[in-house]
Amino acid sequence: MAPITKPTHDLYDVVFIGGGSGGVAGSRRAASYGAKVALIEASPKLGGTCVNVGCVPKKIMWHAADIADKIRHAKGYKFKNVEEPQFDWKTFKPQRDAYIRRLNGIYENNVVKEGVDYFQGFGRLLSPQQVEITLSDGNKVNLNTKKIVVATGGRPTVPSEDKIPGASLGIDSDGFFDLVDQPKRVAVVGAGYIGAELAGVLNTLGSETHLIIRHDDFLRTFDHTLYEALGSWAEHTGIKIHRQSNVTKVEGQKGQTLTVYTDKGEKLEVDTLIWAIGRHANTEGLGAEELGVNLDKKGDIITNEWQESNVPGIYAIGDVQGRALLTPVAIAAGRKLANRLFGPEKFKNDKLSYENIATVVFSHPPIGTVGLTEREAEHKYGKDNIKIYKSSFRALYFSQVPEEEKEPSVYKLIVTGPEEKVVGIHILGLGSDEVIQGFAVAVKMGATKEDLDSTVAIHPTSGEELVTLR
Ligand code: FAD
Ligand code: NDP
Repeated sequence: MAPITKPTHDLYDVVFIGGGSGGVAGSRRAASYGAKVALIEASPKLGGTCVNVGCVPKKIMWHAADIADKIRHAKGYKFKNVEEPQFDWKTFKPQRDAYIRRLNGIYENNVVKEGVDYFQGFGRLLSPQQVEITLSDGNKVNLNTKKIVVATGGRPTVPSEDKIPGASLGIDSDGFFDLVDQPKRVAVVGAGYIGAELAGVLNTLGSETHLIIRHDDFLRTFDHTLYEALGSWAEHTGIKIHRQSNVTKVEGQKGQTLTVYTDKGEKLEVDTLIWAIGRHANTEGLGAEELGVNLDKKGDIITNEWQESNVPGIYAIGDVQGRALLTPVAIAAGRKLANRLFGPEKFKNDKLSYENIATVVFSHPPIGTVGLTEREAEHKYGKDNIKIYKSSFRALYFSQVPEEEKEPSVYKLIVTGPEEKVVGIHILGLGSDEVIQGFAVAVKMGATKEDLDSTVAIHPTSGEELVTLR
């Protein structure tokens, strides 16, 4: 279904700017209550970061890498004629892209079926009651509306040429998904989710992988037990971690060998350089500042607990408001806001709690985490008022593979008070990405260690470790 180019209402109840996770979910929920809703998306590919250049293609690449590992393990399980896996990136990429294009179509059908007026163009705030759309042919359309929800997300941050000469020879995570062939040698700069995930995928698929980080560890905002275990394993599997290092200069030509210089005096020759040093909000050209909407230093829209900006009638959800940059967070914020604005009376106080949001890093092995890290718990409750339960083990799966291929698992529980309330769960190892979701429910419900202990274990699994910790 094609996007429309003319408004079907003189006055909308709400206009969502940005058709990513938050905008699509919020606009559909609002329309489901009978509200007059418009959705504006700048890109012809509806769905935003997650669908096009984020969670979905990333997880597909993680699965590909996981299969490479499984093929290697197959020898241990005495499968015959197993060779070193050869991943054909060139033919896989178009297949992956075709799947994403199908998702774009499904998103489009879903918003239109729900009764949302979907425009493809760039949205700009003219006033708290008016949005201008610049359509792809350059024509402009204005929408009148009672409320506006900004859901414009963010994009990767890349250092300027002034700061790092040659920086533009590198690509970002969007560029990673454009790579038509697998780089033989790659340098990933950054110590967060994207750095860890992309370095893990590339290394597991056989690229010579350098991870350049400016401190000693990557994923430093996670519990130290996790990043210490993952860091050692990453090195064991061949990722070359360049600690306390900053890129100072890049030389070469796009598509050819690049030379990456660091302030530690290193000189790395790679085919691809990927910047993964964080993201910033899409607020440029949006007209928000001109209307007096408060932005923080990074350009994120400042919102209160109700997703309201300081300007009445203008709301912001998802990555553009800078808190918990995760798809389910954007979706939940969009739906809850729509519930509250247009839903039945029971939703009149509906809002998203940003506490105890579970998250997974699709590293090799994956990380699952919910609640406070040990350091955060010490800070909040005092060192003497918390207790740590921890277990390090190898999943049964690895019993049949050579010692050097046995991935670590580390499970950690942080509890506080005499009742031993669970305030943090941090797990690394095979299946952690799936195990954490259920335990996040328990934490959200205020579970105690005793609640976990009184749950009969499922055997043999890794998850059972969390209900049998001593
Ligand atoms: P977005 O999805 O970014 O959507 C914003 C949309 O607004 C975009 O489509 C953009 O084109 C549009 N837009 C911007 N400005 C305008 C304008 N002025 N007018 C009209 N349209 C505009 N999260 C997870 O939960 N799990 C993961 O595994 C995960 N993996 C990720 C991997 C990568 C490589 C990246 C980059 C992100 C990942 N994320 C993951 C984060 C997740 O993608 C984001 O948190 C999520 O997409 C945010 O949704 P959003 O609606 O706020 O913004
Ligand atoms: P992050 O904020 O997670 O990490 C970026 C890291 O890069 C920083 O923590 C910092 O680490 C380092 N860094 C920052 N500036 C520089 C610099 N100038 N030079 C070198 N290193 C620098 O950002 P990402 O881009 O990795 O991801 C953005 C967000 O997207 C994530 O926070 C997450 O919310 C979301 N996401 C979620 C995923 C998931 O759910 N699985 C997957 C991918 C992304 P340090 O301070 O330690 O140096």
